Amino acid sequence: MLFDSHAHINYEAYSDEERRDVIEAIERSDVCCVIDVGFDPKSSEAAVGHAARYPWCYAAVGVHPHDASEMTDDVLSFIEELSEKPKVVAIGEIGLDYYRNRSPKEDQRLWFRKQIRLGLERGLPIIIHDRDSEGEAVRILREEGAFSDERRAVFPKNPGTGYESAGVLLHCFSGTIDEALEYIEMGATISVAGPVTYKKNIKTAMVAERTPLSHLLIETDAPYLTPEPFRGKPNSSPLVFHTAKKIAALRGIDVSEVADATCANAKRFFNIE
Ligand SMILES: [Zn+2]
Repeated sequence: MLFDSHAHINYEAYSDEERRDVIEAIERSDVCCVIDVGFDPKSSEAAVGHAARYPWCYAAVGVHPHDASEMTDDVLSFIEELSEKPKVVAIGEIGLDYYRNRSPKEDQRLWFRKQIRLGLERGLPIIIHDRDSEGEAVRILREEGAFSDERRAVFPKNPGTGYESAGVLLHCFSGTIDEALEYIEMGATISVAGPVTYKKNIKTAMVAERTPLSHLLIETDAPYLTPEPFRGKPNSSPLVFHTAKKIAALRGIDVSEVADATCANAKRFFNIE
């Protein structure tokens, strides 16, 4: 079974019909679970609704750095209320995006910090979006205590693999293998998305090949980042298979091994079942 650790069933531009097709395709596929990840108040609320409605769906709630300039303490309280609903398994996606800079950096930093604190207070995993922050996202996580011993104590360990987690997921990881290993050491978990299937993406291929399997999750970020051979078309959770397949090929193991391990890792990470 496949676990899509990051998708946007709550994507605002879906028509009702398109969303229904997306949901039906998931129900016909090998995907056992999807995390519907919020990026603003509305999409977070929608994710909570989808989680309530579909047994395979779980929700993450939070405000993306793009929308940081729209954040207020009232919005944060609303996100906190949502985080108490059933099947909300994480705060996210939160972080820094210095590539598009759609909100001023000051706003991004402030609301990133406040939402990290919310995750810590609620004892929930946090899903991090980090684009071109050049280490600042991880520095802020550290400063806020996201990798502290107290934080690590909240999450399950697996003595068999030496798995240690501080409940910090680096979604659609785009750093180097050295960075991945450094972050794992701190207590982070790495999630790899469709770009690993792109021919020129040697950096992420290396991450997929060498990251300890115990610390690896897979995701689509649907409807974005469609893997090969479907690049250019809209993405959806069942296509996470192609990311698993590519990782398996890079590691020289069977795709079922990647599917089973990343599924078990995700269930442990999000405390599902
Ligand atoms: Zn996303």
